[in-house]
Amino acid sequence: MQPTAKNSFTNVIEKLPESDIYRVYICGPTVYNSSHLGHARTYITFDVIRRILEQVFQKTVVYQMNITDIDDKIITRSNEQGISSEQLARKYEADFFADMDNLNIMRPTVVTRVTECMPAIIHFVQTIIDNGYGYMSNGSVYFDTQAFSAKGFQYPQLRYITQESQLEQLIAGDGISMKNRVDEKKSPNDFALWKGAKPGEPFWESPFGQGRPGWHIECSVMSNNVLVNEFNGFELHLGGKDLQFPHHANEVAQLEAFYNKQHIYHRQAGFSTRTPPSRHEAHRVHGQHQASCQESLRRQLRLLHRFHGHSLFA
Ligand SMILES: [Zn+2]
Repeated sequence: MQPTAKNSFTNVIEKLPESDIYRVYICGPTVYNSSHLGHARTYITFDVIRRILEQVFQKTVVYQMNITDIDDKIITRSNEQGISSEQLARKYEADFFADMDNLNIMRPTVVTRVTECMPAIIHFVQTIIDNGYGYMSNGSVYFDTQAFSAKGFQYPQLRYITQESQLEQLIAGDGISMKNRVDEKKSPNDFALWKGAKPGEPFWESPFGQGRPGWHIECSVMSNNVLVNEFNGFELHLGGKDLQFPHHANEVAQLEAFYNKQHIYHRQAGFSTRTPPSRHEAHRVHGQHQASCQESLRRQLRLLHRFHGHSLFA
């Protein structure tokens, strides 16, 4: 018996590969604040999918989750609290896993953190530049969407939004630190692979100068380095629909640019039929999740999320 899932590339429900081992990548949290109900919903849903694959379909699941432990929001918040970005990230990562434990969500097989993958990320960015799909500008490195399209690659894949909101989403995806840097780009659609450090920001040394990775590159690198030995992709990539663009679309583009090859096998499964909460709303529910657990409501919370419609398995 083979599981079926909706392929986000085609929006078609299809059989998953016939394999005893399922390599599953899931985009994890940016650890700058307490978990909120959106996290609970996401990770409960994927925990249920994982258990179905393991217990119903008898698959061995290698479940990799990344932790975004360096990012604009982490830097801002650590400055507010007078601690290092690393201290802040470790604190909220521990809180996140404590919350997930409270919800009876199984721990990932592998957890990878951005700050522990810098050499691999730098190598990945350098290769994209060498292949002709990235360029340096004012201390940062951008993905060259025009050069990419000129070589016959499709960008973006996984697009279910209008052209106007695409640009807004792209800029938001690059983070607040890159918001007013349109002049540095060859095209407004280009996105950051490497962000040049401003004075006072944490940074890593690289051939492109001192800086830190853009958001999207981490998942291309981590999934590639852990789950994939060669350009054969992996069985399942999980993520909320709100991540399809720009995060997952850019993740795919970066992998194709790294290998200089089209059609990477990169299956995604969306679950959310609901518009994700706005940033403001997400802030408002911070902390409620922990409170819920303390009130021994975790079973109800799991049920609540299960009954909210989603469309992974047919
Ligand atoms: Zn990701």
